Formats: sequence, C-alpha cells, structure tokens
Amino acid sequence: MRDFLPEEAKLMRYIEDKTRVVAGLHGYREILTPIVESYELLSAKAGEEVKSRMFVFEDLGGRNVALRPEFTASIARLVATTFKNEPQPLRLFYVGSLYRYDEPQLGRYREFWQSNYELIGSRKPDADAEILILTRNLMEASGLKKVAFKIGHVGVLRSILNQEKLKDDIQSKILQLMDKKNYEDAFRLLKDTGASEKSMTTIRSLITLKGNNFLEIAARIADCVSDCEKSVEAATNLKEILELIAESGYEIEMTLDAGFARGLEYYTGMIFEIYVPDINIALGGGGRYDRLVELFGGESTPAVGVAHGIDRIMLAMQSQKTTTKTRGEKMTIVIPVNEELRSEALRVSRMLWNAGIPTEVEVMGRKITRALEDADRRKMTHAVIVGERELKEDSVVLRDLTKRKQSIVKIGRVVESIRE
Ligand code: AMP
Repeated sequence: MRDFLPEEAKLMRYIEDKTRVVAGLHGYREILTPIVESYELLSAKAGEEVKSRMFVFEDLGGRNVALRPEFTASIARLVATTFKNEPQPLRLFYVGSLYRYDEPQLGRYREFWQSNYELIGSRKPDADAEILILTRNLMEASGLKKVAFKIGHVGVLRSILNQEKLKDDIQSKILQLMDKKNYEDAFRLLKDTGASEKSMTTIRSLITLKGNNFLEIAARIADCVSDCEKSVEAATNLKEILELIAESGYEIEMTLDAGFARGLEYYTGMIFEIYVPDINIALGGGGRYDRLVELFGGESTPAVGVAHGIDRIMLAMQSQKTTTKTRGEKMTIVIPVNEELRSEALRVSRMLWNAGIPTEVEVMGRKITRALEDADRRKMTHAVIVGERELKEDSVVLRDLTKRKQSIVKIGRVVESIRE
C-alpha cells in the first residue's frame, strides 16, 4: 500500500472528480458502502482468485470480516435488499479503495481505487452501449488519448461449451486458458472432456476472429456458430450493441475478439476492457452480469456495469503527460512585519478566505525577506505584507510574486487586486 504525496494525491482526486462529473452527466447516483464487510458476504460469490487474495481478520466482537476486494458483493446486497422495490432502471455510481493481496508491480497494488458505474434493470443492448459510451466519456474527461476498447461476449463460447454439456468449472478453466492465449492446453482439456470434433473446429475458427472492423467480425462470428442457437443469440446481441455504438456518432476505437474472456464468475453477456498504448495493462473493464443479484438472494435482475482503475488511469495520464485543466491557481501569503501585527495579518487573511482566495499566514515568525524567499520557492503568486506605516493609512503592501511588482493597496481593495 502506498502513500500519495501532494502531487499524486492531487492527480488522484482530479480523476475522482472527473468520475463524479461523468456520473452526474449520465444520471448515475453516488452511493458509499463500508470498506469492511462480513467475510461471509464478500467471499460468498467471489471468484477463487479474488477470494484467495482477501485481507481477512477477526474484529473485536469475534466476527470474521474482510477489507472489500471488489464492490460487487456490497452492490448485489443493496440491490437484493434496500433497493428491492426501487423503480428501474437503477443507475448507481461509487468510487473508493479496494484491497487485494496481489503481488505489487507497476499498475498492481494492494490498495487501489476504482470508480464503478452500474446500470441495473435493463436487458436491452442500449444499456450495454450506454456503459461503453460512459466509459469513453470518462477517458475523454481525463484527457487520455488513443483509448482502445477490447470487446467480446462470454455467451458465444460458453453456449458451445454448454451444448457439449461441460461442467461450469471446466468451462471456466477452458475459457481462462483461451483468454491467456494458451490454446494448446485449452484444446487438450476440451479433447479430454470428450468435446465433439465439430465443436472443436468451430472454436478453432472462432478464436481467429478478431479485429477492429467490428461490425464485419460480429457478422462473421454469427455465421461461424450457426449450429448453436444460443451462441448465435449471443453473437446477434453483440452485433446489436456494436451497431448502436457505430450509429451513435461517437468514434470509438474497438477491437472485437471472439476468444476474449474475463471475470468469468460473473459475466453473462458482453464483456470489455480498455487500454491505452502506453501501458499494456487494462485501465478498466466491465460487462453484463444478469445473474449476480439472484446469486445474492435477490430477484433475477439484468445488469451491466464497469469498473475503472483510477491508479492506472493516473499512470496513463502521467505517461501521456496529460495536462490537468485546473484554473490558474492563485496562492497568497500574508506576512506581518512584526509580532504585534499578527492579529492584523489574521484579519486580512480572514477577508481573503471569505472571498475564497487560497491564503496562508506566515506562522514561523520569519523576517519578510526570508518569508518571501520561501513563497517564491513554493511558487506562490501574491504576498500581502502587513506593516505599521501602511496600516495607519488603512493599507497593506501587495506584492505580485510572478510579475515581481509591488504597490500599496487599501485593505478594502486587496481582494479585487489579487483577482485582477
Ligand atoms: P477487476 O475488478 O479485477 O475487474 O478490475 C477492474 C479494474 O480495476 C482493472 O481493469 C484495473 O484497472 C483495476 N485493478 C484491478 N486490480 C488492481 C490492482 N491490484 N491494482 C490497481 N488496479 C487494479
């Protein structure tokens, strides 16, 4: 787990602000859930991978609890209980820290931050398209360039494996191997389980279907799986989503990959990840998970969502040298020329604070030259020097530290002069 020093903390919060702006823009309401939840809840439906990496401990009441490794369980809990009678669609947003005992490396930390958007209640491809568009908009708001989507549909391959009557865990293993491009082991496992030659041939051609002419590839996927009705349904669903995107007017760089699989435990439909060329780890990912709420004891509820890794967006922004558009920040230091004038300095500061001008007061009792040197070093923009002589005239010395000019200004005009 890391410390965020001021520059990094500022960038993290900047991205977090953008996630909120995008949530507001698309009508997603923010919720906050606890960082610590019952281990039972968090582990109930978590995948083996996530479960084995949880920070688990006993609290003082003897309960088994854990730091949340993902938001999924908390959201499913809320949708199954508190939001049970809430009109749908439900658009929820949350941002916060998650904890996984991963091996730390670039872009992988034991404490990391995600923003999540969940669109609950719609089975329509329109909902899938909304999540993709919203993600595109967040990437744009963060100032990232060359963002590319990788997209697929778990239903295409899964339906073929279902038709072959393979058990769920074997299916997951095969899909995982395929996702890692370890086709040799995947096909060996398929053969060992007695999958038919025909299905293996179909899968062999499927995994070659990828590219960024996504509408054409989606059509070819549908042709390729024509013997499996459910698989055709999945391919058609994906095609509809992609058509909506293509017709939306947004230009989204997208590679369709029929052999792509992620987060196998939850996803039931479209799945995607986002990348930028600078770093070869996903900045975020999501998809459709129609069975999740049901797994947590709620009613069968269709849902689609996305999780963005804020730490990785930050890495990408640093690597692309993205400029963060903050308004020219003005920072003022108020320096009393001697100890007797400390309260006068506070009164002037109060005026600046009331006007919303970021202001520090000299608290080290330094002489003016030293205090000014320090202000220069820290790139402050203005200094207000409170001296006896000027005070008699109801004035102070206002120094513009960037232009290196100073003048005597009436106290009542200081705010206005700094704002100029
Ligand atoms: P997941 O919850 O595993 O589907 O991950 C969604 C996104 O969260 C990923 O695409 C990453 O951007 C981010 N993420 C996941 N695990 C970590 C981690 N250990 N450190 C930093 N970011 C992570």
